[in-house]
Parts: sequence; structure tokens; C-alpha cells
Amino acid sequence: MPHLLSLEEALACILERSRPLSSETVPLEHSVGRVVAEPALALADLPPFPSSAMDGFAVRGAETPGTLPVSLRVVAGSPFTGPLESGSAAAIATGAAVPEGADTIVPVEQAVEENGHVRIAEPARAHAHIRPRGGDVREGAVVVPAGVRLGPAQIGALAASGVADIRCFRRPRVSVIATGSELRAPGDTLEPGQIFESNRPTIAAVLEASGAEVDLLPVVRDEEAAHRAALERGLAADVLVSSGGVSMGPHDLVRRVAAGLDVEELFWGVAVKPGKPLSFGVRNETLVFGLPGNPVSSLVGALVFVRPALLALQGLADPRPRFQVGRIESPLRRNPHRDEFIRARRAADDRDVVLEPITGQESHMIVRAASADALVHVPRGEGEIASGDVVRYLDL
Ligand code: AMP
Ligand code: MG
Repeated sequence: MPHLLSLEEALACILERSRPLSSETVPLEHSVGRVVAEPALALADLPPFPSSAMDGFAVRGAETPGTLPVSLRVVAGSPFTGPLESGSAAAIATGAAVPEGADTIVPVEQAVEENGHVRIAEPARAHAHIRPRGGDVREGAVVVPAGVRLGPAQIGALAASGVADIRCFRRPRVSVIATGSELRAPGDTLEPGQIFESNRPTIAAVLEASGAEVDLLPVVRDEEAAHRAALERGLAADVLVSSGGVSMGPHDLVRRVAAGLDVEELFWGVAVKPGKPLSFGVRNETLVFGLPGNPVSSLVGALVFVRPALLALQGLADPRPRFQVGRIESPLRRNPHRDEFIRARRAADDRDVVLEPITGQESHMIVRAASADALVHVPRGEGEIASGDVVRYLDL
């Protein structure tokens, strides 16, 4: 295998080729997880009018303390009333429009209402418990900037600002291929020499969680014609992800067949364990990832290399892997040549996230990996990472 790219070099190469797709209008109710393509602007002030933050009485602060007649009653949704008569109070509910003239709200807890009058014992501070018009956002101001992925708070903000449709980047369409004559679908009966196919569903799960629309193509036997047909079909998508068949063996056909279909290979081989023989190329606008077949290699390759590409295609401002920090529970020997991704179980003590590597770190051990919830990054180098050291990890 030729020169291996470092993790950083490989990611840089991938991201350079992963430009945002076109944008489309998305109804708010279908926008969760989508990335905003054009700044979404408020269509109204929020709040649209000065409103009460409490149930209580709207008054002129200068007229307190004292006993005032209740001249008005306003609830949420009441049409605007005329100005508050001087020397009187308005009974007001949370969310109701503060009548003109009133400059403060006395909460019910601090007032006694009796016989159409309200007794207020303490002087009321001006502006207390009034939400000013536009205090959250002004009409025309940016509610969500471009490049942000819409989560619950952003969706609530857009709705509150009157936005029903949002320009979002298109979701990438991704074809997934698994290669290997030994592979059988879960549910089938295994003949000698066969195993259950697990990479397509694994990869698809990563892709879907990354915002892609996934097309699972049939399993491909280790024959050139079958590879050619499947790759040609997959190349119609924005991204093609294959698993298996990218190592050095005579039955590893993916790269050769892809080259015959005019896929320009940009690299083959990353200094990362698991997942060394990963390949990446392009044909026109289509990105082409060849993930190694070992199930944990496929999983790590999809998370560390394919996911950032998908996020970049969706226009996310920072698509790179989002590492978190924790403390490792047991020492880890560093690999002098390759960055390693160690599967670990995450716990929390009083102060830190604590990461305990699981037993069974080999790249075929997908069931062991399933007991982990973190992928600890061990940068290549000499010596070891001591127990208690701070490490970076990705959520699994
Ligand atoms: P390969 O990269 O094709 O040499 O495959 C490496 C190892 O991963 C072999 O043991 C394969 O049987 C296994 N493997 C390849 N593809 C899959 C798959 N889709 N599901 C489960 N195991 C696979
Ligand atoms: Mg194979």
C-alpha cells in the first residue's frame, strides 16, 4: 500500500471536495435536522406587542402604593384596548397586551382585589414584568443564520417569528453497496463459509443520522461484472459508499472497477486503525467512498470520514467530527504509525466523563463494539496514554 494519509490530511481532502448542494424550500414541520441555506428572518417583532409576563395588574408605577379601581380586564388574545385611565388598574393575564399608559405589572401575589378595587402595598418598579415589543427579536432580523442545523430551539424560534418555510440545503442522496461473495442477508440460512451481511445497515444508520437519503443496493458478489453494474448504478447518487473489496487481495475489485468507470481516486490508505485501506475518489460531482469490509472498520470509516462529507454537502458551517473530552480509565499504548479509534464505555464521575475501553478491540468484533458508546481517539506516537489522561472521543 502506498503512502498513508493522516487523519487530518484525509479529512481535508474529503472536505475540499464536499461543497454544499443546491437549496430548496422546506416546510417548517419537516425541517428538523436540515441545514439552513439562506438566513431565516423574523416576519414580525417577538413579542409583537408589549405583553405581561405575569398574572396581575397593569398600573402606572408612580400611582403605587395605593388602592386603585380596576377599570379594565385583559387576557391573552384580547384585542388591544384603549389607554388605561389614569388612577386605575387593569387586571391582566400572562401574555396579554399591556394597555397603553401602564408601565408596570404588579403580580397577583403582591395585590389584593376586593369590591372592584386593588390594593397594592409596595411601590411598583417601572417596567417590571413587562416583555417589551421586539425584546426577543425584531422584524427582519436573523432568527437562524445559514449553515446551522435546525434543532428544537431553532424550529421553535422560526415558528415564533412567523416563519413557515425555510430555504435549506438539499439532503444528499447516498447509495450503499456491500461487496463479498460470502455475505448473506440476516434471516437467511448460512452455508459453510458464509456470514451475515452487517455493513449496509450499519453504514445506512450512520448516513441517515447524518441527514442523508439512503438507497441500499443489493449485495454484490466478488465478480467484476457484478461490481461494474452496482457501482455504475450507485454513481448516479450524490455519494456512493461501498464496503469491502478495497484491500490488496485478488478479489478486492472495487478500486479497479471504479477506475474503469472513470472514478478519479484521490487517495487510498489512511493512517487510521481500524480502517486503513479506505479509498476516496470522485466522478464528476459524485463522491465515492470505499470502506474496508471489516464491520468495525466500516463503522469507523462512516463516522469519521463519510459523515463529515455529508454534513458539508448539507452546508453545515463546521462539518468536521465533533470531538468531546473525557478521562481514560486505563492506560493505552499509542501506535507509532496510525491514529487509533478505541471503543469505550462512557460513565460520569462527579466531575468528568470517564471512558473505559471495552475488551475485544478487533475490527471484526461488531458485537463487542455494540457495548461501547464512545470512540476514543488515540493519536499516533510513542509511549502510552496514562490512566486519568484527558482524551478526545466521538459519540458512537
Ligand atoms: P474485505 O474488505 O472485503 O476483505 O472484507 C474484510 C472482512 O470483512 C472479511 O472478513 C469479510 O467477510 C468481512 N465483511 C466484508 N463485508 C462485510 C459486510 N457487508 N458485512 C459483514 N462482514 C463483511
Ligand atoms: Mg471482500
